[in-house]
Amino acid sequence: MIKIDNLSFNELEKKIIELKEPKFKAKQLFEWLHNKTVDSFDEISNISKKTKENLSKYLEFTESSIDLKLESKIDDTRKYVIKFEDSNIVESVYLKYKYGNTACISSQVGCKMGCAFCASTKNGYIRDLTSAEMLKQIYLIQKDICEKITNIVIMGSGEPLNNYNNIIKFLNIINDERGQNISMRKITLSTCGIIPNIYKLADENIPITLAISLHAPTQEKREKILPVSNKYKLPELMKSCDYYISKTGRRLTFEYIMIKGFNDSSSDAILLSNLLKNKLVNVNLIPCNYVKEANLSPSSNFDIEKFKKLLTQNGINATVRRELGSDINAACGQLRNNFLKR
Ligand code: SAH
Repeated sequence: MIKIDNLSFNELEKKIIELKEPKFKAKQLFEWLHNKTVDSFDEISNISKKTKENLSKYLEFTESSIDLKLESKIDDTRKYVIKFEDSNIVESVYLKYKYGNTACISSQVGCKMGCAFCASTKNGYIRDLTSAEMLKQIYLIQKDICEKITNIVIMGSGEPLNNYNNIIKFLNIINDERGQNISMRKITLSTCGIIPNIYKLADENIPITLAISLHAPTQEKREKILPVSNKYKLPELMKSCDYYISKTGRRLTFEYIMIKGFNDSSSDAILLSNLLKNKLVNVNLIPCNYVKEANLSPSSNFDIEKFKKLLTQNGINATVRRELGSDINAACGQLRNNFLKR
């Protein structure tokens, strides 16, 4: 059996022809799948019973459901525990911003990157998500909030550039005008720095925003909290970032977690400014969120503002990320497979 919702438009069309159905049915089906976001053949009305019977011999839907929903009491954030047919779960978050409805989605069940400060990696890696499983996170959230998602951040659990082909397919389907038609410009992909795939992504010619989890201004410090930097070193990472900027012409975001007494001093700010000088970049400062195992504290607001001011004075654009949903463990780095054993 093939999962029908995992097929790009071209693949679906090919399959339809292979199954001896008229080609135009591919467009109808694609619209049902990705615009109306139905979960079964039963919900489709303009395709005959005979065709449905033929298709369902070879094609089936990806199953997914909201297992649990938590609503923040301090803001409009909602965290969803989404369950797939093999009982694996991921967490997805809905964030309401003035500029639109944002979904933060996961790309893998668990994560193998082992970053010191992040909850998603604490139970290890289980498997990659399919493109349909990433789409379903958006579709389920939309149905729950009864509004359209306008912006997507791929910043939930998992390392998206380690699930490369499925991510690219997901991006193309979510952007397809026959489906959700969400602009690539409203999608941000965050990576801890898988260098070969940063080059690959730059060459895809898709205008998403790329965010790099930098978190420290030197190789030495970065190694202490991001094991991936032992393999993909900072100078090479910066070269791949330069390539991305020159190839796409798009401003790159650098995420920088502010950890008290570790990477938040004035000299860290100066090192960071020198690293990013004269580049088309934005720095997003993220107060380190609480993670049980990590024993790391966020920098004080005073130190964060001071750090930001130093960056700005050195000509680097910097913003502080507003923390949403921390009362339901929905903030950055707090998503994990907490619910596996239930
Ligand atoms: N694997 C990808 C995407 C997931 S993380 C990546 O590393 O970028 C999404 C963002 O949340 C990253 O910038 C990550 O570093 C940040 N994050 C992780 N743990 C955090 C924590 N405890 N506090 C604040 N931000 C955190």
